[in-house]
Amino acid sequence: MTDRLSALTGRLEEIDDIQRAAAVLGWDQMTYMPQGGNAGRGEQLAALASLAHERLVSPAFGDVLKAFADEVAGAPADDIRHALLRTVQRAYDQATKLPQELVGRQMRLSAEAYEAWVAARAAKDFTVFAPAFAKMVDLSREIAEALGYPEEPYDALLDLSEPGMTARAGLDLLGQLKAELVPLVQAIAAHQERVDRSILYGQFADESQWRLGLEAIAAFGFDFSRGRQDRSIHPFTTSFGVGDVRITTRIVEESFASAFFSTLHEGGHGLYEQGLPAEWARTPLGQAISSGVHESQSRLWENLVGRSRAFWRYFLPKAQAAFPVQFGHASVEDMYRAVNYVEPSLIRVDADEVTYNLHIAVRFELERALMQGELKAQDVPEAWRAKMQDYLGVTPPHDLVGALQDIHWTGGLGGFIGYTVGNVVSAQVWEAAGRALGDLPERIAQGDFAPLLQFLRREIHQLGSRETTDGFLHKATGEGLTTRPYLAYIKNKYSEIYGL
Ligand code: ZN
Repeated sequence: MTDRLSALTGRLEEIDDIQRAAAVLGWDQMTYMPQGGNAGRGEQLAALASLAHERLVSPAFGDVLKAFADEVAGAPADDIRHALLRTVQRAYDQATKLPQELVGRQMRLSAEAYEAWVAARAAKDFTVFAPAFAKMVDLSREIAEALGYPEEPYDALLDLSEPGMTARAGLDLLGQLKAELVPLVQAIAAHQERVDRSILYGQFADESQWRLGLEAIAAFGFDFSRGRQDRSIHPFTTSFGVGDVRITTRIVEESFASAFFSTLHEGGHGLYEQGLPAEWARTPLGQAISSGVHESQSRLWENLVGRSRAFWRYFLPKAQAAFPVQFGHASVEDMYRAVNYVEPSLIRVDADEVTYNLHIAVRFELERALMQGELKAQDVPEAWRAKMQDYLGVTPPHDLVGALQDIHWTGGLGGFIGYTVGNVVSAQVWEAAGRALGDLPERIAQGDFAPLLQFLRREIHQLGSRETTDGFLHKATGEGLTTRPYLAYIKNKYSEIYGL
């Protein structure tokens, strides 16, 4: 290791330590902290965030980064230091382009928007939230101007979570999905009675649900000596390092699928975090490629594995042992069909595989129109209803199940596209894994998930962010981001299930 490299990583590790300490506090806030801790915790998190930010934008850090960049300039193209430089430079540029004053204003406005959102939800009325949201849109435009963008302001916001993503590329991606999925959803809606999901509802004891979910992700390869599951209102995954990855779930005793698939989903995020390269831990190179690629890993285990016939051939006896009354008489086919029930619905987080991306299309197109000044904040509910009707054939009766359902807009715009990137990438990776492993469904039916996890470790997890999304996709699958495998998977699977 050269002196310049160790000077840089020394500083990066310190910043990462501060951020992981903040992550511990954030995790505690969502899991065990009593309500009385709220105010103090907000102060502590803000203090750590500004400490990490100050270290990153300090002149001393700039000097160390510049010296490292000079050293790397002459290195061969495949030298990993280029990748480290790219990821650090990106974080540094973002942090230095956003003035501290603007970051502070965004945090305060977020708090104000959150309160307005809570009040608006109580009133089931978007107009209560609209003034704060209008300010958030203006501020998002200001942030975009500070960051810079290739074509239009929305690009800058998308790039924050999906490096390289643009409004144009997002519209194209969602346009391809809509063209195939809207007619498919209509065809399924006309035959909804062909699938019976009633076995998934009833009374499912909390403790048995908890154990069954853990049994599934243990079989996937989740390492409980380097991670654990706790409870929270909204399931999430966070990491304090490759040796300590936390996932959460919430259990609904009346519904089997809710907690089970949330554990599979967060378990998939957790497997990615546990597989990141330890040698680059505490640097940006040791982190995930993007939020979309992260989501591809959760969706792969939740849907491509967890909602497959092969998985239920393996797992049904275990589910029957946990719930003999509810599942005792169910066949693999009963379970497979029930967990793949499709329903055009109002709420994104409850959406199935077929309708999910249409919810994202609604938000993405509205956000883009807001950023372009083509739509005003107070007109969002009407535009929302029109798009829901067009894409899903359902109209929210009030804003609580419409434009007020997601918390995302209290923090800013641009965060939704990662979900669709995740769905699309999950199918690309699955197809490539199937080609590479040959007998993937047979292995899964035997409960042997190791070959799949090894494939993901090698092609994705171990890279950290050495590759871009497109770069890793080319190496792992032979092509860049494409909707083809996802659309083929959805059409084949659901045409068969619904007899279309
Ligand atoms: Zn997720």
